[in-house]
Amino acid sequence: MGMRWSWSRKNGNDQMTLKAYQADLHIHTLLSPCGEVEMIPPLIVEAAKMARLDLIGIADHNSCENAGSVMKAAEGSGIRVLPGMEVQSIEGVHLLCLFDSLDQAEALQEVVYKSLIKMAGNYLFTEQQFVVDSEGEFIRYCDKHIALPTSLDIDDVYKRVIDLGGIMIPSHIDRKSTGIIDVLAMIPESPDFDALEISLNTTPDQARENYPSVGTKPIIQNSDAHWLNAVGQRRTVFYLEHRNVNELKMACKGEGGRRVENA
Ligand SMILES: [Zn+2]
Ligand SMILES: [Zn+2]
Repeated sequence: MGMRWSWSRKNGNDQMTLKAYQADLHIHTLLSPCGEVEMIPPLIVEAAKMARLDLIGIADHNSCENAGSVMKAAEGSGIRVLPGMEVQSIEGVHLLCLFDSLDQAEALQEVVYKSLIKMAGNYLFTEQQFVVDSEGEFIRYCDKHIALPTSLDIDDVYKRVIDLGGIMIPSHIDRKSTGIIDVLAMIPESPDFDALEISLNTTPDQARENYPSVGTKPIIQNSDAHWLNAVGQRRTVFYLEHRNVNELKMACKGEGGRRVENA
């Protein structure tokens, strides 16, 4: 908790300072039908502060409509918020997609909204999908079928996220039905994911042992919080120069001393 560690090193004429950032990159808001109504921007930021997080990702199902409000709520808090969403591919796999800016996330959202599959029956949870402002005040309901898969396959989501400058990490790879291993039976060689997320139910060592196709890819852990108490309950420490998507990718590749450490 709250560990800070940094060093400087001479790199030619550049002095680079890496710092250990406590990250929970997978947090839902009350926009997700499965997210508790307490998951409003100021309380998420407060919970992140209490958990001594430096970096959080906001990832509602197939939507980033509350991410901007969390970013705004975090202004002045010292916590960096990466906006994004948890896209559900046509295969049914959950994919954590994160960006530096809201514009990038919204560009993905536009594609995702057009590709949401509409099914007959009770699959629309409009009145459980709250769009709120930075203080948590109700703005409107989201009337998109965000709890359903998109018509985009994994490769397609990956390509779009990379083209937009984001990072895509398969969510909770060990989970039944929405984890990539249960769906595809293994981690495919392509696309070349920067990292893989495991659920609370396993450890990095167990995951590598149980799923050989994980290979040497970095494994990260996040809370996948749907309620406040969960925020920061699982986290990953990233040694970075700055808190941004490119630095996360460099840490996953171990570039320039950057690295990923399981908390
Ligand atoms: Zn998920
Ligand atoms: Zn999730």
